[in-house]
Amino acid sequence: MISSRDWNDWHWQVRHSIRDVRGLRRILPLTRAEGDACTLCRLPLAITPYYAALIRKSRALRRTVVPLPAEFARAAGELDDPLGEESRMPVPGLVHTYPDKVLFLVTDQCAVYCRFCTRSRVVGSGAIRSDVKSWSRAIEYIKKTPAIRDVLISGGEPLILSDGRLEWLLKRLRAIKHVELIRLSTKAPAVLPQRITPALVRMLKRFHPLWLSVHFTHPDEFTPEVAKACARLADAGIPMCSQTVLLKGVNDDAKTIKRLMLGLLNIRVKPYYLHQCDAIAGSEHFRTPVQKGIDIIRSLHGFTTGYAVPMYMIDAPGGGGKVPVTPEYVVGRKRDELLLRNYQGKTFRYREGK
Ligand SMILES: *Cc1c(COP(=O)(O)O)cnc(C)c1O
Repeated sequence: MISSRDWNDWHWQVRHSIRDVRGLRRILPLTRAEGDACTLCRLPLAITPYYAALIRKSRALRRTVVPLPAEFARAAGELDDPLGEESRMPVPGLVHTYPDKVLFLVTDQCAVYCRFCTRSRVVGSGAIRSDVKSWSRAIEYIKKTPAIRDVLISGGEPLILSDGRLEWLLKRLRAIKHVELIRLSTKAPAVLPQRITPALVRMLKRFHPLWLSVHFTHPDEFTPEVAKACARLADAGIPMCSQTVLLKGVNDDAKTIKRLMLGLLNIRVKPYYLHQCDAIAGSEHFRTPVQKGIDIIRSLHGFTTGYAVPMYMIDAPGGGGKVPVTPEYVVGRKRDELLLRNYQGKTFRYREGK
């Protein structure tokens, strides 16, 4: 028997994570192919006991964290580093693609490794350094680059770091005058909600404006623990926006995405991005046609709360950045008149200003 005290302790969850085929077999019947994939996969395996309990009941979530042999196949157009991040690092761990914001990779460790990870080339491999010296080089670059007003802390999972180490980092970033916005990109609320302790939240709220980008995949992730974690964050005035990767056989239908987006609003998370799955090596079994995403967005807009409609994005290969892909609602133009098509498919003329 596991005491509830242990279960609710995030350190216990991390310490007891499933990290190999033997551990996984103890909780799930595995096919031979899955078993082989667990033994051979390059991207490490880790599943918190909390998330393991969810995947036992959810085929969709199971697919996102249990390796398959398809991971080893490289389809046409797939790359190890599809976003070209490695060539956009002025210092190791800091990706500077856009003019006024940087992506700061502070660790390569995760509580749970997603099989579709866009950074599978580096996570869990020791390639992203978390020592003071490496962090200091990145902080120095931010300090001497006044154009940077937004720092997005990511990884790996930044919330796998201790409160003390996060505080060290946030203090130094907050001390830089031109850094206005600090964001943390995390999957902890979904896969390790125990991490969102009162102490963590008290520490984070000292560094406002601090926002969270939270990664959610499927409505099966909504539990009382998740609701409590997000309530703590929201009550601390930490705005949360969501990111979801569109995944074949997991969440690639309008009903599931609608339930996910409406559920996020209920826990005070604003649906932000629906990502087309990046073309990383071994991702073909996860990637959908782009039309699927467009259809899903079309099924939401107008039919439900506008807040629930995320932006559908494709991150362009080679460092092109995120490109929004939207259904067409302006369907024609005649001189100063636009032909608009609404969510119901009815068309309207609108005379624009001069
Ligand atoms: C996604 C991303 C950001 C943040 O983008 P927003 O659209 O502002 O959320 C910043 N830098 C890099 C390299 C990114 O990939």
